[in-house]
Amino acid sequence: MGRTAEVVIVGGGPAGAATAAALARRGREVLVLERATFPRDKLCGDFIHPLGVAALDRLGVLDEIRPRARALRGMMIVSPAGREVFAPFPAGIGLSVSRAVLDDLLLRAAWRAGAVVKTGRVVRRVLRRGDRWRITTEEGEVAARVLIGADGLRSTVAQAAGLRGGPPRRGRYAIGLRVRGLGTYEGFAEMHLARGAYCGVSAFPDGQANVTAVLPKATVALRRDVLAQGPTRASMLTLLASFPSLVSRLRPADPIGRARAIGPLAPAAGPVVGDGVLLVGDAAWFTDPLTGQGVSLALTGALVAAEVIAGALRAGDGRAAGLAAYAHWHRDRLSALRRFLRLVDWIALRSPLIEPLARAWQEHPALVSRFLSVIGHGDPVSRVLAPTYLSRLALACIWRA
Ligand SMILES: Cc1cc2nc3c(=O)[nH]c(=O)nc-3n(C[C@H](O)[C@H](O)[C@H](O)COP(=O)(O)OP(=O)(O)OC[C@H]3O[C@@H](n4cnc5c(N)ncnc54)[C@H](O)[C@@H]3O)c2cc1C
Repeated sequence: MGRTAEVVIVGGGPAGAATAAALARRGREVLVLERATFPRDKLCGDFIHPLGVAALDRLGVLDEIRPRARALRGMMIVSPAGREVFAPFPAGIGLSVSRAVLDDLLLRAAWRAGAVVKTGRVVRRVLRRGDRWRITTEEGEVAARVLIGADGLRSTVAQAAGLRGGPPRRGRYAIGLRVRGLGTYEGFAEMHLARGAYCGVSAFPDGQANVTAVLPKATVALRRDVLAQGPTRASMLTLLASFPSLVSRLRPADPIGRARAIGPLAPAAGPVVGDGVLLVGDAAWFTDPLTGQGVSLALTGALVAAEVIAGALRAGDGRAAGLAAYAHWHRDRLSALRRFLRLVDWIALRSPLIEPLARAWQEHPALVSRFLSVIGHGDPVSRVLAPTYLSRLALACIWRA
């Protein structure tokens, strides 16, 4: 390579592609270096909240994605005791769409907007020299005024820039399967809860469904056969035994292709900007996938990052101070959400409160809609921590307890 680009983005997933598209449309010179060759699938629950759908619309790719996705009116949450809560989004729609489709369309949009996209390029090293970053792949070195780490959960850029420590050692593991023949609920993606585990189901227009479970490491280790030999109907049902109502619906379904696993999944956060470097998507902020917000937050953050970077480049200041507005957005937008998600994780997967809560939500759809407005629409967390909401929720729980 041996050249200079104004902005180099490492990683062409949703965060990198969206940042690239938005920056290129602002007339900035952008180079995306992506390890995989696209289209590539990625282990994911494959549902997008209305917040993410709005970002896809702003990026101008929604019309292309819609025919290859299923529209969602809401989420179905199934409590550990099997109580089904149909939670409609307060407004707008979500989408079930495979990452092979979504990520490919986003990266193409970046290329159409004018970004140079190189796939099959693994970034091995990044180094700060003077006021430039030097990015090394097997094909050579490229220099950048601004470097963007959009390289996911185990970000090379975040570690090399000193913004994160090493990869997490503890956390749950995810295992994802594709099935055919599972009867699903039209317009609803599913989230099945169990003690210390959960499983999402997302159905696609071609009749296949994605079943992705997040489980303790020990459970995944016990079921190595699912990964080594490929899932059979019997091994799939044993793997998902913690979700009895899902297992009974899965009995006639057939697993297709290979199963994939990833872990440990530990929430991670820290500084998101340094001198001439900025992190987006999972590289900046990884939250447990329980609430399925990752892509929506990655896209929303990418649009903010692009605006801040374009402004900094116009002002000739790509240093940390020039990028600080993005760090402020992150802090203001996400720190309360992070604390709230820890509470949601505890209530949903580790406390007995989930059963009375699921019953209250079943009987009072407005209460669960309010919850979904925070998770799916990006409303402030204060909406569900307000005393009026909490007292209505507590009364609804106690009334029938
Ligand atoms: C089990 C599970 C289920 C999930 N379910 C959902 C869900 O239903 N809905 C939702 O919204 N979110 C979900 N998420 C979260 C979602 O997958 C992420 O938030 C999202 O992928 C973040 O996008 P990204 O672009 O930051 O990172 P990624 O999608 O991880 O993209 C990073 C890209 O960087 C590339 N890369 C990495 N290292 C290098 C390198 N050194 N050189 C070049 N390229 C590199 C990778 O190949 C990859 O393409 C889930 C996550 C998990 C783990």
